[in-house]
Amino acid sequence: MTDAHELRSRTREFLAARPPAGTDRADFLKARFDAGLAWVHYPPGLGGLGAPRTLQAVVDAELAAAGAPDNDPRRIMIGLGMAAPTILAYGTEEQKRRFLRPLWTGEEVWCQLFSEPGAGSDLAALGTRAVRDGDDWVVTGQKVWTSSAHIARWAILIARTDPDAPKHRGITYFVCDMTDPGVEVRPLRQITGEAEFNEVFLTGVRIPDAYRIGAVGEGWKVAQTTLMNERVTIGGMRLPREGGMIGLAAATWRERPELRTHELHRRLLDLWVDAEVARLTAERLRQQLAAGQPGPEGSGTKLVFARLNQEISSLELELRGEEGLLYDDWTMRRPEQVDFTGRDIGYRYLRTKGNSIEGGTSEVLLNIVAERVLGLPAEPRTDKDVAWKDLAR
Ligand SMILES: Cc1cc2nc3c(=O)[nH]c(=O)nc-3n(C[C@H](O)[C@H](O)[C@H](O)COP(=O)(O)OP(=O)(O)OC[C@H]3O[C@@H](n4cnc5c(N)ncnc54)[C@H](O)[C@@H]3O)c2cc1C
Repeated sequence: MTDAHELRSRTREFLAARPPAGTDRADFLKARFDAGLAWVHYPPGLGGLGAPRTLQAVVDAELAAAGAPDNDPRRIMIGLGMAAPTILAYGTEEQKRRFLRPLWTGEEVWCQLFSEPGAGSDLAALGTRAVRDGDDWVVTGQKVWTSSAHIARWAILIARTDPDAPKHRGITYFVCDMTDPGVEVRPLRQITGEAEFNEVFLTGVRIPDAYRIGAVGEGWKVAQTTLMNERVTIGGMRLPREGGMIGLAAATWRERPELRTHELHRRLLDLWVDAEVARLTAERLRQQLAAGQPGPEGSGTKLVFARLNQEISSLELELRGEEGLLYDDWTMRRPEQVDFTGRDIGYRYLRTKGNSIEGGTSEVLLNIVAERVLGLPAEPRTDKDVAWKDLAR
């Protein structure tokens, strides 16, 4: 199945058998997965048809025109954007069959247990330990900034399995059941007033070896797939023209002529052009993905996404003057989805601060672009071959 025409007919037949208006949302999504129309480039039996990734647009257009429900990608961003491609690339057949369907339909939400208090940008320094005990691993440690941990059923987790190996080589990748004894999730209130992320304490959590993804000690390699997909997930979202932050700022500009000044007009136009260039570049990147996993170039789109969001929300705040300083609501919430553009301008302005930190800071992504895209000399790394247990902490 590689042909757009054939795929269009198949989608229409699917819609005729299950008219969205008369079909339960969850049933519709499950049937869509089973028909191979979830992510067409995945293998048959796993929600796809083994077709080129670019053909997903054909399916999506037919479904959107018929008013079909989607699987709310913003709520299941980590599962969809990061866990799924990693499980597809490194998981066993059993793991793929167990995890991918409920992940895609949104029945099971995922979170990412990577960052630790002493291991953010230097993620390979992580200290959460996993010790083998029979058929299980016993995991103990602390994770931080874990988005969606409070609603997650599963987590992708990296933990240290060999402290004697250098830091990149003694890590193993697991799936962690967030309902297991020993997993404790505590909200972390952030600058917006809400708690979208959490601290997660792992105390003697037993993870079956069957939930290991990839080989023992190969977790860093597996995590690279997650991280490269994460940058495209955050920075390469599909947007219509004037979607995202720029659409909101342009709407304020149009609706409130009394706020305009010549200087702000010029800056808005500059940012509008930059946002459109970024949108089209992200589209091109998604098309290149048809050839395989995202490369380090994805860091470029994530960098631009963060910079533009911060500049556009700052401009909108300035445009609104004193009114922009009012904050709509400080009530502590634990949102179920990451909402970059939601609520008032005050919320958007504060939330964009995280855009240059989450999924890798802008400084670290600049290093990646410098070294892996431009081929500039790498930063000196004195700890590369030192056993993790001997590193200064
Ligand atoms: C909103 C939000 C959601 C998040 N969600 C998750 C999640 O779901 N799961 C998860 O695991 N993590 C999550 N994170 C964590 C995020 O990935 C880390 O915060 C990030 O990797 C930075 O690590 P750090 O906070 O330890 O900062 P540090 O690594 O301590 O960095 C501090 C500063 O030093 C700079 N720096 C560090 N190293 C270098 C270098 N080599 N060159 C130049 N500058 C450098 C950094 O850029 C930064 O400015 C989230 C963070 C945010 C803000």
